[in-house]
Amino acid sequence: MSYQSFNPATGKLVKSFNEINDVEFEKKIATAAACYEEWRHTTYAQRAVIVAKAAAILKAKIDDFARPMTIEMGKRISEARGEVEFSAQILEYYAKHAEKFLAPVKLHPTVGEAHMESSPIGVIFAVEPWNFPYYQLARVAGPHLMAGNTLLVKHASCVPQCAIDFEKLWIEAGAPVGLYTNLLISHDQSDRIIDDPRVKGVALTGSVAAGRSIAARAGKNLKVSSMELGGSDAFIVLDDADLEHTVKWAVWGRMYNTGQTCCAAKRFIVVEEIADKFLEKFTAALAALKPGDPMDEKTTLGPLSTESALVDLLKQVEGAVAKGAKVVLGGKRIDRPGSYMQPTILTGITPENPAFREEFFGPVALFFRVKDENAAIALANDSDFGLGGSVFTKDVDRGKRIASRVETGMMFINNISWSDAALPFGGIKDSGYGRELGNMGIQEFVNKKLVRTAHLEAPV
Ligand code: NAP
Repeated sequence: MSYQSFNPATGKLVKSFNEINDVEFEKKIATAAACYEEWRHTTYAQRAVIVAKAAAILKAKIDDFARPMTIEMGKRISEARGEVEFSAQILEYYAKHAEKFLAPVKLHPTVGEAHMESSPIGVIFAVEPWNFPYYQLARVAGPHLMAGNTLLVKHASCVPQCAIDFEKLWIEAGAPVGLYTNLLISHDQSDRIIDDPRVKGVALTGSVAAGRSIAARAGKNLKVSSMELGGSDAFIVLDDADLEHTVKWAVWGRMYNTGQTCCAAKRFIVVEEIADKFLEKFTAALAALKPGDPMDEKTTLGPLSTESALVDLLKQVEGAVAKGAKVVLGGKRIDRPGSYMQPTILTGITPENPAFREEFFGPVALFFRVKDENAAIALANDSDFGLGGSVFTKDVDRGKRIASRVETGMMFINNISWSDAALPFGGIKDSGYGRELGNMGIQEFVNKKLVRTAHLEAPV
């Protein structure tokens, strides 16, 4: 039974689920494909009724959806509520705006007239991670269902209850059977779905390793794919930054979701003039976080998602230290039940240290001191990842100039990398390709068809 809910705050097994057998597997793909043949012909207004209803249910039952997240992957309850609300906003947004994004676009050919029109392409297979158990699902469901596609979804094996709850949400919202299907499947079955001719596109959010495997499989089948992978976002602090404002964002940017966010601030790159002051305040703020039950509103430090996530992160920190990194704060497991780690700051990470290029997926901040803004940009760009990044300065024009020079898919000035229902999200380099959300995101799995009318005589 590879789908298991363990409560990471207690280490106790809550529930296990079997993977589906091959007969159920086949039936679910066939049902999604059959549903597509009906759904593709519905109007945007008809689709919007169901998608908006799903949003309304999420809003009406925030606690019912938030609690399983906290139980299965340790998200602090206030953050879990926020995620349910944000997921509802995403669904609402696409119910309202999809038609506008996908409306025909008039073109201006040299002869005659032409337009581009958008049509759905079929069943889309989405593979999703545990760190935002509903937001990740809303991010594919809102745009792609409104575009007229149907979805088969493989969620992470440690959040099966969230996965099942999100599927029930669609049934309760009145969706036809096969519109949104949760699949408790193995990696081997996942490969077979990618190979299946009824499936037309693949969206993954996950690690680089999963990206290499799933993108290769999609490529072999000549299927369109989008890859939202890891990140090691730079958090650049310039000499003129407002330190109070900046340190608050530094804490939130690193520690939100116990540091388990793809676009979390992971590399703190601070110019020499204010490096000591920043490090002192940042260290004090992280040291003040209080571990506790993530169900308790007063807790400021939750557990990591699983015991193995904690063990792997501790090993990564040990490896970094063995190669010369210095521990300014933390670095150890917290002595209490559950998978808790001390907030950690590492310095002295040289380019020869493997940690320099790694993603630390948890409460571990890498701190770098640099001479000036050019050195900050060079260091930010010296990464295999290219997801997001942020720059803190009182001079917004200076911030914009720096944002333009950092090689990532997203840059944020005086706030951290974050998502908005209306804005495209995604990266470059090992952080993947394609975008989710925004006008760009909804276009990923649609056929952009050229239609041209030209009354010309054929050449002889
Ligand atoms: P992961 O191991 O890649 O898992 C993510 C999903 O991929 C899970 O559903 C997992 O299923 C599945 N999976 C992994 N390998 C697979 C394979 N070979 N075939 C089929 N499915 C496969 O990622 P993680 O370590 O849990 O999640 C954290 C990573 O995701 C981080 O690197 C983070 O930065 C990234 N992430 C990126 C974004 C973004 O938008 N760019 C957002 C969130 C997270 P199982 O659980 O069954 O293995």
